[in-house]
Amino acid sequence: EVILEVKDLGKTFDSAQGETVALRNINFKTHRREFVCVIGPSGCGKSTLIRILAGLESHTTGEVLLDGKPVDGPGPDRGMVFQGYTLFPWLSVKQNVMFGPEMNGHGKLQAEREARQWIDLVGLSKFVDAYPHQLSGGMKQRVAIARALANQPRILLMDEPFGALDAQTRGKMQAHMLDIWKNIDITVLFITHDLDEAIFLADRILVLKAHPGEVQELIEVPVPRP
Ligand code: ADP
Ligand code: ADP
Repeated sequence: EVILEVKDLGKTFDSAQGETVALRNINFKTHRREFVCVIGPSGCGKSTLIRILAGLESHTTGEVLLDGKPVDGPGPDRGMVFQGYTLFPWLSVKQNVMFGPEMNGHGKLQAEREARQWIDLVGLSKFVDAYPHQLSGGMKQRVAIARALANQPRILLMDEPFGALDAQTRGKMQAHMLDIWKNIDITVLFITHDLDEAIFLADRILVLKAHPGEVQELIEVPVPRP
């Protein structure tokens, strides 16, 4: 079952300094329950790609289809996790996670019930009433994951989510992320510039190569397994 289809996607930024081609001729599909990592060097267009998929950025050419329908702006069908946790600092863990379900019209009690389940899933049930500033970086990122999942998205879009964490916490979060993914019906598109991270997490790896002035390529490579 195809969840996301990207066809001949291109993006050119126009500015006073001229045009920057960030993406060109990008084609790929993700299927249900896949964990797909996109890797590539700095500046190759990874963030631009995921921002377009999230509906936060327009594209210049091609199309993005989610469940066969063109993506037009952000929506609850796509969950986002960024490197900076982007939690609401004035809301508790529970309130942060309830926010999506409440916006989607679930009643307060129902939204709270759902939030507790997602907070449980990320192992923070003791911290439902804590505030973001009381939590470690890894814990904040777990709240961000719970909040993204609470909208019950079709796909989770993660942009270098563990990039700001120290090596030990990053390792723990990678293992935790795999546990979550194995336990629920979710498709993940995960951006990283860390090949080891991609090898650990992915069942598919797509490499985005920068080809200034040429046709850009997104190539699938086999995941090396011991
Ligand atoms: P990555 O995430 O792989 O580091 P980006 O998607 O951030 O790459 O950037 C891809 C290219 O697009 C870079 O050349 C960058 O300078 C350019 N770019 C990104 N955002 C903008 C913008 N808002 N305006 C102009 N150029 C941009
Ligand atoms: P993470 O790897 O998620 O950043 P830490 O390494 O900071 O977490 O902590 C590991 C565990 O210790 C957490 O899962 C949590 O249960 C507990 N913990 C971390 N910070 C606190 C805190 N401020 N108060 C109580 N327990 C904490």
